[in-house]
Formats: sequence, structure tokens, C-alpha cells
Amino acid sequence: MSFSNISISQLRRQLLKGEITAIALTRSCLERIKATDAQLNAFITLCEEQAMTAAAVADQQLANGQGGLLTGIPVAVKDIFNTRDVRTTCGSKILANYVSPYDATAVTRLQDEGAILVGKLNMDEFAMGSSNENSAAGAVHNPWDLSRVPGGSSGGSAAAVAAGQVVAALGTDTGGSIRQPASHCGVVGLKPTYGRVSRYGVIAYASSLDQVGPVTRSVEDCALMLSAIAGYDPADSTSVDCPVPDYMDNLNAGVGGKKIGLPKEYFVAGLDPEVKLAVEATVETYRRMGAEIVEVSLPHTDYAVASYYLIATAEASSNLARYDGVRFGVREDDGSGLIGMYQQTRSKGFGDEVKRRIMLGTYALSSGYYDAYYLKAQKVRTLIRQDFLNAFDRVDLLLTPVAPTPAFKIGALMNDPLHMYLSDIFTIPVNLAGTCAMSLPCGLSREGLPIGVQLIGRPFAEADILQAAYAYEQASDWKERTPPLR
Ligand code: GLN
Repeated sequence: MSFSNISISQLRRQLLKGEITAIALTRSCLERIKATDAQLNAFITLCEEQAMTAAAVADQQLANGQGGLLTGIPVAVKDIFNTRDVRTTCGSKILANYVSPYDATAVTRLQDEGAILVGKLNMDEFAMGSSNENSAAGAVHNPWDLSRVPGGSSGGSAAAVAAGQVVAALGTDTGGSIRQPASHCGVVGLKPTYGRVSRYGVIAYASSLDQVGPVTRSVEDCALMLSAIAGYDPADSTSVDCPVPDYMDNLNAGVGGKKIGLPKEYFVAGLDPEVKLAVEATVETYRRMGAEIVEVSLPHTDYAVASYYLIATAEASSNLARYDGVRFGVREDDGSGLIGMYQQTRSKGFGDEVKRRIMLGTYALSSGYYDAYYLKAQKVRTLIRQDFLNAFDRVDLLLTPVAPTPAFKIGALMNDPLHMYLSDIFTIPVNLAGTCAMSLPCGLSREGLPIGVQLIGRPFAEADILQAAYAYEQASDWKERTPPLR
């Protein structure tokens, strides 16, 4: 049995009525994973025993009429979330044996709502990448076409949900790592507003940009998952103490009278013609449903990728300084002394892309270059954020492509980092602006590859995105589609 097109709400109804049990559901997910993961490589670690124990507890709660939003629902999280009983590798050799002494808040919140954690998902090492090829655990394959990438860095999360290995997953998004893989795998991925979801216990890549979010098969499931994880956490000083609305409320409010802006800088040369067509067709659907479509401008868009790769690498070079063989994970030591131990641990522990980023970021922060690079990038970032705020004076939502092309072939961009960096050209500005955005499936290419559309909302207006996405999902036939994977 596969759950490729059953929603959390449907499963909850069946669980509550006793038509299925959490144990049976969890077991069938584990079987599906075992039957398909040799092809996908979406999981780094399975936690079968813990999952079955948690499923038994869930069945008890269901029998007693207790339980939360997600009781009995099998989920998995990107291997960047710390988990107390299961190792957390972050896709890196340097953390191959690392077991955290505590759980990330987002994981605790899912479990408090009764979700069953079945495993930890593959990802680009330290979340650096757009194809999930930079993983010490090997590349993830796209369930729609195994010769293609699933996108990255939360490639395991998107592939696992698309393939029906789990019902929902968590990813993280620093420059597009939830939305771009969601788009390539035909699932829903939301990057909430910076500060909406706690990052406590999430291994840091670029702290001023990182944000946690759900990957699901439907918009309603996304709303449920967000309801479970959103909210203030005193353990994360960047989480924001503002009320969390009921995301399930008014999901069917529609888009009548809403103003949707199309940023003209996002519909330019370089955009794949099939992606352009699918996004334009989505715009027409919104128009038919009563939305008013207007053109807007985000004039500093051209500078987003350059400033992102300065800010993200600078912050990464500082965050990753802690992996030195002393406090976390693997130590390589030939007895040549402390400095030698640092050198060997870091040279053997980190992969090529991570090293490239540490070097870039260290250079951008070095004295004499700081003002020219890091400080300048921060100023550009302020201009980009202002572009978005100005646009939101005129419109309720922005609509854009997610990625310039559908999923590319494994290996195609591995020797072309600049081209790889451009995969996030439409997602990066949202992280720089600190606001929220979703990737929503909107079509298939002639080759049968999913295409996503991006809906961007005002800061903390996740509910607006969910309502608009729900309206489109109801109007489209996407829900019936599942990947050809057996
Ligand atoms: N691909 C981008 C990068 O490599 C985004 C990654 C992310 O969002 N974690 O930095």
C-alpha cells in the first residue's frame, strides 16, 4: 500500500474511526521505504524500532479519544534536525557518528502532536546545494525520473513525500532548499517567514536566512504541519512572539478580489519555455477565479544571487568553525599535534562544496575585504527587502516561477557551480527579504517532470498563501498525479 495520494486529514479520519491503526500505517510506510529506497536513496537513517513504539502509543491515545493534530501520522525530517535518540549527520562525513543530546524544537512539536518519526532524510552536506548531489550519503534520485536530481538541499524530504514513503516531512530553506526540491518533485513546500518556526536544534548554515518548513502532498496537509510547528520558542532568540493564526480556518476563502503581482524581473530570458507556459497558465486560472493580476517590479532582483552567496558563505564559514574534531562528530588525528588534528579532521570531514563555501566566506569576512563584500551585500539585502515591502503596498501576493528549469540530470551541473547557484535565482530573494513563500505543483513538462509555481506573501501572512494555494489546488487536477515509481 502506498500513501502517495492520501492526505493527512483523510488518514486522521480513518485513524479516529479505527478503520486503520497507527501501527499498520507506520509498518506500511516502512515497507514502502524498504521497497523503494534502493532506487531513491532518500533516507540516511531509519528508526524503525522507535517508530513502532511510538505507533503503539499513538494507537493507545486514539483508542482513548486523546491525541493531537498528527497522532499516528508517519513523518520524517531532514537530517539537519537534531534528534536525541537517532544520529544527525547533516549529510556530512564530519558528523557521521554524531548523536545530539537533545531534540530540535520542531521535532518535539511534531511528536507532541502525535506524529511518528520514521527516519532522517538525505540532504546536501550542511544544506549547501541545489541537487542533493553534495551528500556524504550519496545522491538522491527524483521519483519522477530516476536519472534526474530531486533538487536540494532538502532533496530527501521532497523525494520521500512524492514517492509516498512518508505522509509529510520537514525541510529547511536558506535560499530555496524547501521550495526548489518541492517544485522538482511535484509536492507542496513552504518556507515560513523568518522567525515563524523555531530553529532551535537545527544545525546552522546561514543563521540570518535559515528557516524550517513543511513538505507535503497537499495544501491542507501543509497547513496542518505548519500549525504543529509554528510559534514562539524562548530557546531560539530569532523566533518571533506573535500569535499563530489557525491555518486550517478559512482555507477555502478563495482569491476573489485578491491582488496578485507578477514581478516583471522574474519572467525573463533564461526561463525554460515549458516552465513559463505552466506558470502563465496558473496566472490565467487565478484570473478566472476572480483575482486581479497586476505587473509589479522588484528592481534589485539582479543582485540577489551575488549578495546571497556572500552573506550565506560568510555566515557558514563562522558557523562551521565549530567542527574541529574536539566537540562534535568525527576526529582524524595522526598524533602530529592540535593544529594537525584540526587540519586533518576538517580536510577529511568536509566535502568539496562545503570547503569551497568556507573559503569564500572566510575571504569575504577578512579584514580589508569586509566592507567591500559582506557589508555591501548586507546593504543590497536591505534594498531587496524594501522592494518586496513596496510591492506588498500594492498587492496581496506575488506569483513567480520556482526554478528556471524542471529537474536536471544527475551529474549535469556538478562541475559548474555558478550554473548550479543560479537554480535558486527565484527563491533566494525571499530569504534575503525574510518573508514567506510556497512552491505549489502546477504542471508537468512534456518529459513528465513536475513544474512548480511560487506564491510569495507578506511577512507572517502564511495564511494568505495557503488560501490562494488551496484555491488553485481545488481548480487543478494535480492531486491525482503520482510519480511512476513502483
Ligand atoms: N542552493 C542554495 C545554497 O546552496 C540554497 C540552499 C538552502 O536553502 N539550504 O546555498
